[in-house]
Amino acid sequence: MNTADLAQRSLRSVWHPCTQMKRHEALPPVAIARAGGPWLYGTDGRRYLDAVSSWWVNLFGHSHPAMRAALADQMATLDHVMLAGFTHAPVVELSERLSALTGLGHAFYASDGASATEIALKMSAHFWRNSGRPAKSRFVGLAGGYHGETVGALAVTDIALFREAYAPLVRLAATVPSPDRRGIGADAAAAALADWLAQHHETTAALIVEPLVQCAAGMAMHDPAYLRQARALCDRHGVHLVVDEIATGFGRTGTLFAHEQAGIRPDFLCLSKGLTGGTLPLSAVLTTDAVYSAFYDDDVARGFLHSHSYTGNPLACRAALTTLDLFKQEDALARNRSTAQALDALLAPLTAHPRVRHARRQGMIWAWDVETPLPDLARRYQGHALARGLVLRPIGKTLYFMPPYVLDEEAMQHLAHGALAALEASLSEEPR
Ligand SMILES: *Cc1c(COP(=O)(O)O)cnc(C)c1O
Repeated sequence: MNTADLAQRSLRSVWHPCTQMKRHEALPPVAIARAGGPWLYGTDGRRYLDAVSSWWVNLFGHSHPAMRAALADQMATLDHVMLAGFTHAPVVELSERLSALTGLGHAFYASDGASATEIALKMSAHFWRNSGRPAKSRFVGLAGGYHGETVGALAVTDIALFREAYAPLVRLAATVPSPDRRGIGADAAAAALADWLAQHHETTAALIVEPLVQCAAGMAMHDPAYLRQARALCDRHGVHLVVDEIATGFGRTGTLFAHEQAGIRPDFLCLSKGLTGGTLPLSAVLTTDAVYSAFYDDDVARGFLHSHSYTGNPLACRAALTTLDLFKQEDALARNRSTAQALDALLAPLTAHPRVRHARRQGMIWAWDVETPLPDLARRYQGHALARGLVLRPIGKTLYFMPPYVLDEEAMQHLAHGALAALEASLSEEPR
């Protein structure tokens, strides 16, 4: 293929996600030819460190040999079969292993995170209907919460920029204050949740939360105590707890799942992103035997009549099994602890920068708030980072890293030095 004008051809034929396309007049998309480990290689011959794991999906680096072998083998064995009326080894084995890891007995599959949110919300409301409580059909989420951008998921996504244009389409959920440590914190947020649930539990099916880190809100981090209190309040009021680990799952927060740090078990657990190690689209909603049993009946209409064409795709499930294998084989959680310490040391100058506030880290997620009058810091920073061979996309005025788990010394140096240099370059453009 002629790759020379790939970016221009892309702009003529591809509608890129989460993008005001006119912006690309100034900074065209970067054409990537191949990837390996934490690096992306452009058609221009340059290399870029994928420090946001390609939108938080990649765990063990790109094009991992174990992943390539597993997918080639699966492709040669069984590419796909519909999961209604049929089953296969990868989906059974994956469900068994996820159940053993979470204590949640049944797994329902889809292809992306937003669908997992929709499934969890539908299952919760349908559970209450099947249990003779049809009035419990509303949801509550956290301020600044993000759970995906399809119309149903937008109901619980409290980010104005993503929701405003579609407000008339959305049946809005309620929001309660975030336990963000920079704000009111865990105890005050739990008290607000207690008040809200006391008033509204009779019409509320579920509370949905991103545990420990509200990533899309700008890496807002909170104490596990909030999750313990939320669990107790949901139990007291007969409300489901949906834990959305689409971003925080698979080691990002230091444990395999973030909710483990609170010692709680959710009623629904949403997984996606890292589930396949960043190779193929797959999401899963895990739930309890109690929820499953409420749908088990002679009456068809009491069943969960939801499906996607690629539900439980064997290739994607095989990729997820390989992800779980790699956690063991590479002892990833332990290795990440030393990677994080080494990178913390290299990041001392960034953390100590006079314009940086609220330096914070949870597991393999780093974030810093930048004090600047520049309204478009994110766009400027992204350009300066790219020029230094780094993929970093601040959220508003929050700079963050969410790198793959395979950073060697050279990659860490590249990241720490490039991130600081891109900050200096951005701040040098401030109006005087
Ligand atoms: C990314 C994300 C989603 C949505 O997943 P998609 O695959 O992009 O639809 C939902 N919840 C959280 C917490 C996420 O970070």
